[in-house]
Amino acid sequence: MFMNKMEKKTEKYPGFMTVDVEEYYHIIGVKGTPPVTAWDSLPARVEIGLNRYFELLAAKEIKATLFFLGYIARNNPGLVRRAREYGHEIASHGMFHREVSMMSSSEFHKDALESRLLLEDISGEAVKGWRSPGFLIPGSTHWFFEKLLEAGYKYDSSVLPLKKSSMGIIGGSFAPCFINCAGGKIYEFPITVVKVLGMNVSMFGGGYLRFFPLKVIARMKDKVLARYPLTIYIHPREIDTEHPHIEMNPLRKFKTYVNLTSVPAKLDMLLDSAKFIRMGDYLDAQE
Ligand SMILES: [Zn+2]
Repeated sequence: MFMNKMEKKTEKYPGFMTVDVEEYYHIIGVKGTPPVTAWDSLPARVEIGLNRYFELLAAKEIKATLFFLGYIARNNPGLVRRAREYGHEIASHGMFHREVSMMSSSEFHKDALESRLLLEDISGEAVKGWRSPGFLIPGSTHWFFEKLLEAGYKYDSSVLPLKKSSMGIIGGSFAPCFINCAGGKIYEFPITVVKVLGMNVSMFGGGYLRFFPLKVIARMKDKVLARYPLTIYIHPREIDTEHPHIEMNPLRKFKTYVNLTSVPAKLDMLLDSAKFIRMGDYLDAQE
C-alpha cells in the first residue's frame, strides 16, 4: 500500500485479534510437553478459555481470526461451529502442533492440507489462513510458502520478525505484505513487533503480552497503529488462570506463566484501541 506522509499521519490502521486454539500443554520446546499419544487422556481446558474470548469479543462486537489446531477441531467440532456462529474466521494451526522446521516438505504439505480440509468440512467455509506452531524459523524451511500455497492457503501469519533473518522474509517491513514464491504469491501478516532501543520487541501476544506492563503496551500500540496494522496473538490458556501447569525449567516457567492475571485488562485496553477485523477480510480488500 503506497501512502504519502500526510496520509500516514492521519490514517489509523486496523487491528487483528488472533487466537491460537490449542490446549495448555501445547507448548513447544519444553520437556514436559506430552506426546500426541497422551493427549486424549489429559483433561481438556480449551473450551473454558475460548468461551471467555467469545464473551469478551461479543461484548465488543469484534470478529477475530481463530487458528484452530486440527486435533482440537476434530475432537470438538462444536467449538468450530460456535466460533462461526459468532462470526469469527476459522484458520489453521496445523493438525498436531508440530514445528514446520521439524517436518519434511511433503509432511508439512500433508499436515497443512489435512487440517484445511478438516476445518472446511466442519465450518462449511473456505479456510484461507495458516499459523505455524512456534512461528516460522527463518532459513530452516525455504519451501514453506510454496508448500502452503500448494495446500490451498491464501495467507500466512507465522513470521515473528525479532531477528534480522526474519525481516528478510518480509522485505524489512513490519506491515502485512505479499510474498512472492515459486507457484505464485501469498500474503503475510507478521506478528507485530516494535522497535525499542534499536531492537525489535514483541509485546502484543503470549508471554510478551503478559510480561510487559500495561502502560508500556498502551504507548507502543499507538506507535504501531499510526504506521501499520496491529496483530494480537493469544491462547485460551492465557485467560484460563486455573489451567494445569506442565514441567519445564525455571526460565521457561517464568516465560510461560508470568502475569497470567494481567491478560484481561491488557486485552481490554488493546481491543478498544482500533477497529478490529478478520485477517481474511483485510486480505480480500488488498486483492
Ligand atoms: Zn501453538
